[in-house]
Amino acid sequence: MFDIVIVGSGPAGLSAAITARMREKSVVVISNSRTDSGLAKAQEVGNYPGLPGISGAELSGKMLMHATGMGAELITGRVTTILPMGKEISVGYGAEIVTAKSLILATGVIQTSVFPGEAALLGSGVSYCATCDGMLYRGKKVCVVCLSPDADEEADFLATIGCDVTKLKTKNIIIHGESRVTSITADGAEIPCEGVFILRQTIAPGTLLPGLETEKGHIRVDRAMKTNIPGVFAAGDCTGTPYQVAKATGEGQVAVLSAVEYLAHP
Ligand SMILES: Cc1cc2nc3c(=O)[nH]c(=O)nc-3n(C[C@H](O)[C@H](O)[C@H](O)COP(=O)(O)OP(=O)(O)OC[C@H]3O[C@@H](n4cnc5c(N)ncnc54)[C@H](O)[C@@H]3O)c2cc1C
Repeated sequence: MFDIVIVGSGPAGLSAAITARMREKSVVVISNSRTDSGLAKAQEVGNYPGLPGISGAELSGKMLMHATGMGAELITGRVTTILPMGKEISVGYGAEIVTAKSLILATGVIQTSVFPGEAALLGSGVSYCATCDGMLYRGKKVCVVCLSPDADEEADFLATIGCDVTKLKTKNIIIHGESRVTSITADGAEIPCEGVFILRQTIAPGTLLPGLETEKGHIRVDRAMKTNIPGVFAAGDCTGTPYQVAKATGEGQVAVLSAVEYLAHP
């Protein structure tokens, strides 16, 4: 079990990982590809102190090397579930699970809108993870809403295990069903199905971690970057504006120092 698990390898998550290692804590960062970070998309970062004009790709590469060079573990994957269980927190990505004593959410700006029917039928036909739940739909008709770069691959995986797969590449979606999914409407056409896999690159924080308090789409934190859930901290764009690298790295450091304090007095 790790001391700290961090979701997101942007500036907030990597800053937290670096300070975690300076405090001699074991730390793992689970994240989508580094190229998904807002920072990696910045052609030029003009206002990060000491590095005028550096490209976002170069700065994020340097931060990643700094964190891994200090012994932070990095796992590339999309986190789909987070489950606090007493003094442990389990974080699921693909079919794998990592457990840790504390968690830092550093997921960047996250899309928070969900499709009609999605929240009510989550776990009752709606899934975010083909690898985890695919076997439940063997021999059944499923629709896969492909909104992430690896979505086609995951949809193909469902077909190989015997699901009858329809791929959808639209955000104009309504999911139907009373206690379980019965059909989906995509661009106005209704398709009967028993399962709907929604494969987005990111998942709204309150969906990822049920019970997490949010406000206008951002994770609610105090000045120590504590969320309302003990042992869970948040940093960076996911906590609110300004969306800036310096704010993200600063919050990452505050969050991890709070996590270190929590580890000492859980
Ligand atoms: C084009 C552009 C130009 C910019 N220019 C500047 C600038 O000049 N100066 C400045 O200060 N800021 C700039 N920014 C903003 C800056 O990039 C962000 O504020 C900063 O990257 C936020 O860091 P973060 O760590 O909070 O989130 P991010 O950098 O967005 O990193 C979050 C990471 O978490 C991953 N993630 C999210 N959910 C999951 C999940 N469920 N499972 C796994 N991984 C997940 C994301 O895919 C992403 O890789 C710019 C942003 C853009 C897009």
